[in-house]
Amino acid sequence: MRVLQIPSLRVSVTGRCNLRCVYCHGEGAQEVRSSRRLSPQEIERIVRVGMGFGVRKVKLTGGEPLLRRDIAELVRRLSALPLAGVSLTTNGVLLAELAEELSEAGLARVNVSLDTLDERLYRRLTGGELRRVLAGVEAAKNAGLRVELNTVLMRGLNEGEVWGILEFASQHGCSVQLIELVRGSSGEFYRRHHMSLEGVEAELRRKGEVLRRRRSPHDRPVYLVRGVRVSLCSSVRSTAGCSGVRCSGLRLTADGCLRSFSYSDSGRVEVPGDEEGIRRAFELALARLRRR
Ligand code: SAM
Repeated sequence: MRVLQIPSLRVSVTGRCNLRCVYCHGEGAQEVRSSRRLSPQEIERIVRVGMGFGVRKVKLTGGEPLLRRDIAELVRRLSALPLAGVSLTTNGVLLAELAEELSEAGLARVNVSLDTLDERLYRRLTGGELRRVLAGVEAAKNAGLRVELNTVLMRGLNEGEVWGILEFASQHGCSVQLIELVRGSSGEFYRRHHMSLEGVEAELRRKGEVLRRRRSPHDRPVYLVRGVRVSLCSSVRSTAGCSGVRCSGLRLTADGCLRSFSYSDSGRVEVPGDEEGIRRAFELALARLRRR
């Protein structure tokens, strides 16, 4: 059997969120089962041990990661490690206030969730105010961060906004990740609004240049359209991001457990505080991934 590696670790730093997105799959929130909350020091220790198992990229997520007051300290600690990248996914609501501090702490890249440029639709989908997110994107660019917009495409809601969002991205020097809706808390919402990304991909292919082709179902194709890098993230590709070796991604939950990327997977491995225990937890989590 080929080696199983963990190239990336998705770290959920909190289960709390300041928006109520109607489509949310609850990544980060549903998996919190205890009051334990990892400190920046503990997360750094877990990532350092994870590097021995191949971890090269870390993505901070939640809940909403910017709700943590110590988020810049965490970024500072992780940025000091010899990783290939530390990035953060945010709804952008608090980004205008924090972009400069995060950039100074060493963050180079941020993903901002932006499904629509229509204020009313934004409020309907998230309960929040669009202008705060747009201010966050601008502040992030001014602070020197690379910004990627995460857009979940939903039939009957924002499917007609792809080109408007690409235009916005082009004006603000952002890249875009178009995401296929996965089943969240409401099966009814999914049935009504799920759409395949195939039609959009065909249009991108027609109007743009292919930067990376899909060679397997696990590949994320990338296009260059009107000067904007656009990648597509379909739900079947949840373990994407690697080639040549058998690999998969792990998530660290806000209350200190390792589990697979897949939202449906319930197998959790609790991570203790000491280095030897952390190593054993990675070995166990890997063994579970191999069995899947
Ligand atoms: N609060 C942060 C944010 O809004 O980016 C981080 C957590 S959020 C759960 C992470 C990403 O998951 C966001 O880009 C969001 O759009 C995406 N997401 C949430 N629910 C989804 C769903 N049902 N299908 C596909 N993507 C979803």
